[in-house]
Amino acid sequence: MINFGYSRVSTIKAAVEALSKDSNAQWIAGGTNLVDLMKKGVTTPEKLIDINNLPLKEIKKTGNKLYIGALALNSEVAENELVRKEQPLLSLALQAGASQQIRNMATIGGNMMQRTRCSYFYNTDMPCNKREPGTGCGALKGFNRMHAIFGTSEKCIAVHPSDMCIALVALDAAVLVTGPKGDRRISFQNFHRLPGDTPQKDNTLERGELITGIEIPDNSYQDHVHYLKVRDRTSYAFALVSVAAAVNLQGDTIQDVRLGMGGVAHKPWRLTETENFLKGKKASEATFRQAAELALKGAHGFGHNNFKLKLAPNTLVEALKIAAGKA
Ligand SMILES: Cc1cc2nc3c(=O)[nH]c(=O)nc-3n(C[C@H](O)[C@H](O)[C@H](O)COP(=O)(O)OP(=O)(O)OC[C@H]3O[C@@H](n4cnc5c(N)ncnc54)[C@H](O)[C@@H]3O)c2cc1C
Repeated sequence: MINFGYSRVSTIKAAVEALSKDSNAQWIAGGTNLVDLMKKGVTTPEKLIDINNLPLKEIKKTGNKLYIGALALNSEVAENELVRKEQPLLSLALQAGASQQIRNMATIGGNMMQRTRCSYFYNTDMPCNKREPGTGCGALKGFNRMHAIFGTSEKCIAVHPSDMCIALVALDAAVLVTGPKGDRRISFQNFHRLPGDTPQKDNTLERGELITGIEIPDNSYQDHVHYLKVRDRTSYAFALVSVAAAVNLQGDTIQDVRLGMGGVAHKPWRLTETENFLKGKKASEATFRQAAELALKGAHGFGHNNFKLKLAPNTLVEALKIAAGKA
C-alpha cells in the first residue's frame, strides 16, 4: 500500500473542487471497498478526501418520490420504516448484501460505485483490461465461474457485484449527481455500463461528479416482492445469480411486473422484454418458465460459468413464484 494524504470536507462544493483540482485524489465514504483495493494495489490514490461530513444522509419523501442521501448507510436504509413500507424490495436486497458490520459502514453512493469482484481485477500479477487497459482479460480463458453471461465483450466478462443496485434498477430509480458542470440526474438503467472497449469505466459518471442521492418514484410494489440471491454460502458471499422481482397482481393476473437480475452482467440487468411478456398473463409456474426462457435470450457462458445458463432461469422462476405467493 502506498502512502497517502487524508483530508475531510464539509461542503459538497469543497468535495467536488477537491477532485476536480487533483487527478490523484479520491473520495472515501465507508471505505469498505476502497481500502481493500488500496491494500492490494489495485487503486493507488495519493489523497483521500473524506466525504462523511457532507449533509447527504437523509431519507425522506419528496412529492411522489422517496429520496435517499448518498451517505445514508446500507443498514440504516434497509431498516428504515419508510423504506420498508414503501420500497420493501430495496430493503430485502440490501439485507442480502455483505454482513451487518459491513452494512453499518457502507454507504448508498459507495455501494453503487463498488468495483467488480473478478479475481483477475484484484490480482495485480494478472492481466485485466478493467484495471490496466490493454493488458487483456485473464478471465476469458481462465477461471470464470463468477462471470457474466450477458452483455460481455472480448475485453471484459466481469460482473457488477451489488445487490442493492439490482433492486434499484427494477424500481426505476434515478441517480442525483453534482459536478464541475453542475447538477444532473441519471436514470439507474443508464448509470452502470456494459464493458465494450472501455471496461475500465464502470459507469457514466464524469471525473469529479459526486453522487448526492437517489430517488425512487412511488409504485404499488409493496405486497408481492422478493429478492432471491443464490450464492456459495448463505451469508457474506457475492451472488452467483440474484433476482429482484416485484409483481402487481389483480386476482391471479399479472398487472405489472419489474425484474432485475444480478451476477450475470457488467451492470444490473433489467429484464424489460420478460416483463412485457408477463403483463396480462396468469401468475403460474408454467408462465414463469416461459418468461425465464425469454429472459435467457442472448446469454452465453465461458466454460466454468455455464451452470449460470440453468441457474439464472431457475432463480427467476423461483423468485417470481415467491413474489407472487405461488411457492
Ligand atoms: C467482505 C465483503 C463482502 C461484501 N459482500 C457484499 C454483498 O454480498 N453484496 C453487496 O452488494 N456488496 C457487498 N460488499 C460490498 C459493499 O457493499 C461495498 O464495499 C460498500 O457498499 C461500499 O460502500 P462504501 O461507502 O464503503 O464505499 P467506499 O469504499 O468508501 O468507496 C467505494 C468507491 O465509491 C466512491 N464513492 C463513495 N461515495 C461516493 C459518492 N457519493 N459519489 C461518488 N463516488 C463515491 C469512492 O470514491 C470509491 O471509489 C461486500 C464488501 C466486503 C468487504
